[in-house]
Amino acid sequence: MEKVDLLIIGAGPAGLTAGIYGVRSGLNTLVVEEKLAGGTAADAPIIENYPGLGRISGAELMQKIVEHCRMLKVPIKEFEKAVSLNLMGVEKIIKTDKAVYSAKALIIASGTSYRELGVPGEKEFKGRGVSHCAVCDGPLFRGKRVLVVGGGNSAVATALYLAELASEVKIVHRRDAFRAQESLINDLMAKGNVEVYFNTQLKEIRGETLVDKVVLLNLKDGEAWEMPVDGVFVQVGETPNSQLAKEAGVEVDENGYIKVDIRQRTSIPGVFAAGDVTNYPAKQVGAAVGQAVTAALEAYGYIRRPYYYA
Ligand code: NAP
Repeated sequence: MEKVDLLIIGAGPAGLTAGIYGVRSGLNTLVVEEKLAGGTAADAPIIENYPGLGRISGAELMQKIVEHCRMLKVPIKEFEKAVSLNLMGVEKIIKTDKAVYSAKALIIASGTSYRELGVPGEKEFKGRGVSHCAVCDGPLFRGKRVLVVGGGNSAVATALYLAELASEVKIVHRRDAFRAQESLINDLMAKGNVEVYFNTQLKEIRGETLVDKVVLLNLKDGEAWEMPVDGVFVQVGETPNSQLAKEAGVEVDENGYIKVDIRQRTSIPGVFAAGDVTNYPAKQVGAAVGQAVTAALEAYGYIRRPYYYA
């Protein structure tokens, strides 16, 4: 069993920030990440609300944060997935698919996964016209017709990005207004090749080998109709990656987000959480970074008990 002071699960904006603060405060710190470092923030086509960097792609921003971690020698183990947690003792035991760790404190920064719609054709055509990531798959639809589903910031940002590549972008949302930031909506409305369908629900994705049409339902008049498309980008929110924490006894809210207090403490002493996996309402890179700073400072206090820590 490998012993560390602070173990961090997840290498998105929150986990990497906690890693920077952990190392700089002298804690023997380790970040484990089941995929590549970056998190879902790396999929964001454009980020223009992170202070100081103007307009930057999510991939570039996360690359900069990863490079910063490397400069400070933050140990990051990629492609190592946490598989179980035992959090009841003083030492927190974290089992991954590669090793077992004992940590004095744990920060859970495991983020979220893309929510699925659960309509016929969505699973069957994944990778053959259905995608959750415009930055990853958008270039395959250059000059083609794409549909974006959803009404939040992710859906509008995805549609904006695809408008530069695809010949036509349609966006369907089940309500009569978006819930995205006004500047994103204004940018979207200014695009000549984007059409918005409010009060509309995606019912089915169809095709032969590849997607070639969708069935939509007009929620106002109950009429179902077909729209020919080559690609469907599903952007209907996220679900928290909190299952392991929940199984280990960490309290979560009714939607599965880990409950934290103002000091990023969870219901279990020595276990902190930061970023999109928590019930903190603002799901923003800047918010995740801020929460991670608090979590790491708190973890330091919890482990080292300096005179000023209460
Ligand atoms: P979101 O804000 O939760 O929006 C999800 C959208 O999908 C909503 O419009 C929702 O409709 C719709 N939806 C959910 N389930 C659906 C279903 N079964 N069928 C049809 N539509 C469905 O999620 P998000 O856009 O993925 O963003 C996630 C979080 O990251 C948010 O807090 C967001 O603000 C943040 N984010 C911020 C930025 C930015 O600051 N630029 C960029 C990306 C993401 P209803 O409106 O009817 O609920």
